[in-house]
Amino acid sequence: MYAEIILPLPLYSTFTYEIPEEMRHDLCKGSRVLVQFGKKKYYTGIVEHIHSQAPAGYDVKQIMALLDPTPVVRYPQLKLWHWIAEYYLCSPGEVFKAAVPTGLKPESETFVSLNNDFEMPEGIRLNESQAMVIQSLQNKKRLKISEIESTTGIKNATRTINSLMETGIVEIDEKVVERYRPRKMTFVELTADKNDNEKLHEFFDMTSRSRQQEKTLIAFLELSGWMRHQEKAEDVTRERLIEVSGASQSVIRALVDKGIFRMVKKTLSRFNPAPANHSPRLSPLSDAQSKALVSLKESFRNHQVSLLHGVTGSGKTEIYTHLIASALASGNQVLYLVPEISLTTQLTDRLRKVFGDTLLIYHSKFSDNERVDVWKRLLSSNEPLIILGVRSSVFLPFARLGLVIVDEEHESSFKQYDPAPRYNARDAAIMLASMHGASTLLGSATPSVETYFKACSGKYGLVSLEERFEGSCLPDVEIVDMRLQRKKKLNKGILSQPLRLATKDALAEEKQAIMFQNRRGFAPVVVCQQCGWTPKCHNCDVSLVYHKNSGLLKCHYCGYCQPIPKLCPACGQNSIEVYGYGTERIAEELHQEFSEHRIARMDLDTTRNKDAYQEIIEEFASHQTDILVGTQMVSKGLDFEKVKVVGVINADTLLNFPDFRSSERAFNMLEQVAGRAGRRQDTGKVFIQTTKPDDNILRHVRAHDYKAYYNEELEERKRYSYPPFTRIINIYLKNKDAAAADMGAVILAKALRDIFGDRVLGPEKPFVSRVALWYIQSVMLKIEAGASMKKVKDILRAAHARLAEIPQIKTSVIYYDVDPV
Ligand code: ADP
Ligand code: ZN
Ligand code: ZN
Repeated sequence: MYAEIILPLPLYSTFTYEIPEEMRHDLCKGSRVLVQFGKKKYYTGIVEHIHSQAPAGYDVKQIMALLDPTPVVRYPQLKLWHWIAEYYLCSPGEVFKAAVPTGLKPESETFVSLNNDFEMPEGIRLNESQAMVIQSLQNKKRLKISEIESTTGIKNATRTINSLMETGIVEIDEKVVERYRPRKMTFVELTADKNDNEKLHEFFDMTSRSRQQEKTLIAFLELSGWMRHQEKAEDVTRERLIEVSGASQSVIRALVDKGIFRMVKKTLSRFNPAPANHSPRLSPLSDAQSKALVSLKESFRNHQVSLLHGVTGSGKTEIYTHLIASALASGNQVLYLVPEISLTTQLTDRLRKVFGDTLLIYHSKFSDNERVDVWKRLLSSNEPLIILGVRSSVFLPFARLGLVIVDEEHESSFKQYDPAPRYNARDAAIMLASMHGASTLLGSATPSVETYFKACSGKYGLVSLEERFEGSCLPDVEIVDMRLQRKKKLNKGILSQPLRLATKDALAEEKQAIMFQNRRGFAPVVVCQQCGWTPKCHNCDVSLVYHKNSGLLKCHYCGYCQPIPKLCPACGQNSIEVYGYGTERIAEELHQEFSEHRIARMDLDTTRNKDAYQEIIEEFASHQTDILVGTQMVSKGLDFEKVKVVGVINADTLLNFPDFRSSERAFNMLEQVAGRAGRRQDTGKVFIQTTKPDDNILRHVRAHDYKAYYNEELEERKRYSYPPFTRIINIYLKNKDAAAADMGAVILAKALRDIFGDRVLGPEKPFVSRVALWYIQSVMLKIEAGASMKKVKDILRAAHARLAEIPQIKTSVIYYDVDPV
């Protein structure tokens, strides 16, 4: 019997391994196994299917070990992996790599050791290589397989080691391989049975001469509820006993030595158990919200996907909670996807209040152990649970998914840009839901053009909510012409007069403000006044950004950094100046302007550790800070009661992006950040600072007119044949040599043009044409809506296989971005 195994590698197929006799019974689809790949590498793989077709032409290796008694991947998950690999033109292995937490994918650290309990039965003869392997292991605790191979000189020791493992002479040590650690705690137990009063008297006699020991014994009896006859005794951890009794470790040890206590190590769940019949505490809905809820339920009857288009602050989240409650009540699981970790923070509190411990959270700021625990929890049960998470949570092993919610569905951060799989979690979630027969709800105040188009054409259900909760108004938006401000010298640094005054008033009224700038660091432009030198990244085709706090110039693409030079490295003069504004600099200016107020900053630099988001958001929500400065992190979905003023420091960078999606991005970003203001009684004020006050997008944001913007945008898309009227696949080619990249791209484009004609555009250099030492070229493929994308992709794959043989292309890496955002 053979198994097709998915390995975490960018190779376009599965790999065949032989299933050893003793695994045949337990190994199945979705099992996690350890296999050898190539000469020295050992990987965790997932069994994709089992067959009896011996592969021709090469020696099959055996599976080294079956890592768990039951599969770790469920069938619909495997189906989703395949869909992603097919649709986004990558390998199943790349999907596997992204899908499974590191703790479940140990690599290459297989250790072999002698089984010390093993006694050689009479009459067993070892062959030469077996004897050599055993000899190499003597006097050693354990060895890696590669170490055994080098000490014995055996080329491929896997088979030998396998045969020794079968007889039980050697063991493969998975403990060192597994990076996952369950949470363990030490408990104290009494050595007497609960009703054995005689024994208890004896214990008191034994401790009567030590007040400390007696006190500790009493504390234990209290904590465990020993004295309360009706109840079951409760578990007491060593920590808790020490805390309550004030006893030292040595007192407890003495009690153990006397045979009164015993210590027990137990594996503990990192979760509180989901209560059996927890009834959610839902807020009653307003009339408008109730109507929307009814319409949505209606819509789900004939649409697999429905869109809730509700203005910012209309209470979409409240409606979600009602839908979640229904799904849980019918015994289903719910996936609630948000685009950013910062959003999970606030939602966790909100949802926890309603749903208690039926809520689990999943994202990368959790430790890998915690992520593995969520995975295992889902795998081991089909209880109704809510998973709140970011994009990678679509990969979790759901048993009975009943509802998927994708909040802020328009967000580009649902798309993974690098590395592969370059998937859109929103679209993958829709696919996942349909595989489970579940409904998907997309929610947004500013739906993506594609989604709204589908909703208008009847493919998706559509429900709108056009008023804010409790009649609070959408904020007033003022467009501030910065050219005029500067001409009349009204601005102070980066703050225009109206923004400055409004902020001052808001702070005087005990209200808060949010300042948005789509750029982190201190200053994005660094120039020598004398000679014009600017610092560039060594690995990328971008300028370095100055970070004042650390004194470093940083590349925001590859992470390269260097100290800012005191003197210009080109001309030696002391004439380096910095220009432009990142969040760090804006925070600094605000400190000067509003010196008696507290200013917080939220961007990639201030949220590197796990609890940072929570601290920044909680401090702002509880009004310990007055002004929050941030990048797009502050623009999305957050709900603060007292924000009266929102300032967009510089809208120009949003408006001038060279890309067909730039208007969409700008409208969404501005409308969303504006939506953070005045979410309760007070009407909020939004100031958008720009040098292009007449821009159409700004006009639509001022009127909060999504439909006007949408219709205009749709016209443009139609005129220039962009999505939703076409589908786009960007094909990238990269090489560390610039000339090879250029040449490869020309050949690639020509080959594709032979097939696809003028649906091929390019090649051209992307906006940033060199990243982390790679020169990049891109070719765009635009396919008419309605054409079979499956066919297109099949043709692309075939062309790829042929092109990969051409010498000028062989040295390059080709990859795809399907449905780029
Ligand atoms: P959205 O997600 O549409 O931007 P939210 O769900 O965050 O809006 O609602 C905005 C604010 O109004 C939140 O603080 C929320 O608690 C409050 N709110 C909305 N609907 C209700 C309701 N039915 N009952 C109580 N509070 C509500
Ligand atoms: Zn210079
Ligand atoms: Zn760089």
